[in-house]
Amino acid sequence: MSRKYPKKVRKEFARKLAAAEAFVETWTNTGLASSLITDYTCTLTCEEAKTYSALMRSFGYVNTASSIIADHCEDCDVPSEHFDTDVWTVDVGAMTFDPKLKQEVADLGWTLVLNAEHPREAEAKAEDAVRAHLHANGLTLKPGVFINVSEIKPGEPGSLALYDWIDMREAA
Ligand SMILES: [Zn+2]
Repeated sequence: MSRKYPKKVRKEFARKLAAAEAFVETWTNTGLASSLITDYTCTLTCEEAKTYSALMRSFGYVNTASSIIADHCEDCDVPSEHFDTDVWTVDVGAMTFDPKLKQEVADLGWTLVLNAEHPREAEAKAEDAVRAHLHANGLTLKPGVFINVSEIKPGEPGSLALYDWIDMREAA
C-alpha cells in the first residue's frame, strides 16, 4: 500500500481489525459462529446474514460463511438473492394461444439459462424471451393469462437437463 494514512488513523484501523479478528476467532472456536442460527433459532434479516457471512469469509472461514447463508436461506423469503452468480436457470410456463385458429395451443414450458445480475432481472429477461419466442411462432399468450415463472435457480441446470434448456447466455 503506497498511500500513507496519519498515524492516528492507522492506529484506529489496527484496533478495529484486532477487535474483529478476536471476535471471529472466539465465535468460530466456540462453534457459535456456525450454529447461531440453528441452535438458537436465531432469525437473521438478509443484510444481517450477508454481513455476518462476509465477516467470516474475510477471515478465511469459508465453510462457516457458506453455512450461515445456507441456514438463513431456510427461512428467507428470497433465497435466490443470496447466490453470488451472474448465470441463472429460469423455469417458465405459458398457456399459449393461436390467434388465427382462435384456440388454445398448449401449456408449454421452457427452461432458460441466461445472464442477469439478480433474480428479478433474470425473471424479466425470461419473460421477454418467451414472449418473443411465441411471437416468432405466430402465437400469443392465452388472453388473460400471464407467463408463469415457476423457479429461478442460480447457475446452469444439471447434466440431466442438457438437451432441454435454451441457452441464452451472452458469449464471454
Ligand atoms: Zn435472505
